[in-house]
Amino acid sequence: MILVGLTGGIGSGKTTVSEMLAARGAVIIDADQITRELQAPGSPVLEEIVAAFGSDLLDSAGVLDRAALASKVFGDPEALARLNKIVHPAVGREMASRLEAQRTTTNVVVLDIPLLVENPREGLCGTVVVDLPLDLAVERLVRLRNMSHADAQARISRQASREARVAIADRVIDNSGDLESLEVQVDSVWRWMRSLPPAAADAGRVSRS
Ligand code: ATP
Repeated sequence: MILVGLTGGIGSGKTTVSEMLAARGAVIIDADQITRELQAPGSPVLEEIVAAFGSDLLDSAGVLDRAALASKVFGDPEALARLNKIVHPAVGREMASRLEAQRTTTNVVVLDIPLLVENPREGLCGTVVVDLPLDLAVERLVRLRNMSHADAQARISRQASREARVAIADRVIDNSGDLESLEVQVDSVWRWMRSLPPAAADAGRVSRS
């Protein structure tokens, strides 16, 4: 297995890049997607969230209103810590189990982790950062995600800085251009990924700080 970390700020284009890599044959382990799966109606994680934050977070079909949950914990470090304590261990276990299933393969496995700077992983064969100017990330979040300008800016300002992310990168993908320019860069990054030496037997563990 070749194990690569993929990260970037909110709205930078991580999911878009992951999809392009998957189309070229990469196996994607996506922390956000796993989080959503583990919060499906009837799941133990969702039950714990409702017990802690209230059943008004569910719609009539029992689906979690993620935006309402985000606004409940946003700017409230204690509530955020409570939520993380419910969600993070379950997501960590699921990511570890998907990683174990890949360990003896020859696949290129991409860990798509928004907070990779804050939560580093050991033994990655390489790290890719999707980067773009902050005002463009805000513009895309407002236009394509229905976020308010103030909300997008506030979320970005709480993340690791652009410089801190680029500092951990072996390869930086510049997503300030169009999707065609992104495809060209993903082609090059995909070639680079496949040339990397395989991961050590215990690669991918969360680093202890
Ligand atoms: P999040 O941090 O919110 O999960 P993300 O980093 O996964 O976001 P994407 O969802 O891939 O980012 O991209 C954010 C939005 O910008 C999406 O609507 C996506 O379709 C769009 N987008 C990504 N790259 C480009 C591009 N080069 N040109 C135009 N739109 C783009």
